[in-house]
Amino acid sequence: MGSSPFDAWITGDDQVTDLLSQEWNRQTSTLQLIASENFASPAVMAATGSVLTNKYSEGYPGRRYYGGNQVVDQVEDLARRRLVALFGADHANVQPHSGANANVAVYQGLLEPGDTILAMRLDQGGHLTHGSPASITSKIWNFVSYGVTPRSDDPSVAGEVIDFDNVRALALHHRPKLIVAGATAYSRFIEPAPFREIADEVGALLMFDSAHVAGLIAGGSHPNPVPFADVVTFTTHKTLRGPRGGAILCREEHAKKIDMSVFPGMQGGPLENAIAAKAVAFREASHKSFSEYTERIVENAKGFAGALAAEGFRIVSGGTDNHMVILDLRDFDADLTGKVAQEVLDRAGITTNRNQIPDDPRSPFVTSGLRLGTPAETTAGMGVGEFSQVASLIARALRGRDEEAHVEGVRVDVNELCSRFNPYADFGK
Ligand SMILES: *Cc1c(COP(=O)(O)O)cnc(C)c1O
Repeated sequence: MGSSPFDAWITGDDQVTDLLSQEWNRQTSTLQLIASENFASPAVMAATGSVLTNKYSEGYPGRRYYGGNQVVDQVEDLARRRLVALFGADHANVQPHSGANANVAVYQGLLEPGDTILAMRLDQGGHLTHGSPASITSKIWNFVSYGVTPRSDDPSVAGEVIDFDNVRALALHHRPKLIVAGATAYSRFIEPAPFREIADEVGALLMFDSAHVAGLIAGGSHPNPVPFADVVTFTTHKTLRGPRGGAILCREEHAKKIDMSVFPGMQGGPLENAIAAKAVAFREASHKSFSEYTERIVENAKGFAGALAAEGFRIVSGGTDNHMVILDLRDFDADLTGKVAQEVLDRAGITTNRNQIPDDPRSPFVTSGLRLGTPAETTAGMGVGEFSQVASLIARALRGRDEEAHVEGVRVDVNELCSRFNPYADFGK
């Protein structure tokens, strides 16, 4: 097993060094197709592992509760300035430790417990923090859920897309205080304008959760919700390719409430090392090469969807506009569940996650679907040709899943493909 170029950073702890080497090996010798993952740049990782991890800085730049924040204030201000410029927003909060924290901070800052929120249902593509019974959000606020239109077998009619008639009818009936747009498993553009129209009609605020598509928005490959939404939340580690974390953009009128809700409302000291890494990622995302990257992400996803359809998979909604492809496995093989598919592909060195599809007859633990994404391997340099090859590797592994030697054969081909696309090949040389 090769040692990773990052090993030199850790000395004297053989157990952790060994585990990091194993993970480095896994990430670079198997295919990373989880739609919410990416390969952050060495610059992002260096900032994450910097001296800023040592500093306490509760509060905000210029208003801290601890001394010694002269430098940290500049770091956080730089991150906020870069973020506001990247998306064209009024105000940024870069402190949320994660996307889930960012969402809860918005609910807490703008609503009272018991208020009604209209959001997308989990099994239709929404996120846990959009009111899933398993999430604390559903215990504090009253969620009403919208979904997608029925499956369509007529190519001229879009099926499994956000049902705006349903959104509007529910909004008129329940009069929510907040409408949440955004999804975690949805492969079509999410247009912000119709959500704004409905929110205005019922006097609701609009939050756009752009966790998945933030990088595509920054690169110009997805409509920007900032001009339409009161608040935009996102994660920094998905298509945006930064460190793990969250952030919030909002209109000036909500800035104070949002900031107070993140700290002291929800979190203690911010992770300034992560905030420095966010600043690095925001700068990277402002470059022309990042726009070219996001265009390739989408082009690869479209090619991937076409190649998977040719292998006999049904693509939920008939295709993709973004970085993800959601497979309905039932047409490929009625007995194949998402759970089994994910496990077989893991053995073949292909990392994916099972996902419910709209109106899935199987439980969230079993599922009939698989969610695939192109951001990580696009960072590693793969193009449409490689993604078609990956589509046939997936189909081969699943067809021959009962024979270990067959799955092992796919794994050899996966390793060969990955050896030509190492995201950190030039690092440490
Ligand atoms: C990933 C995701 C989140 C949560 O992000 P974490 O950093 O995992 O907490 C929230 N909303 C949506 C739509 C997501 O896809």
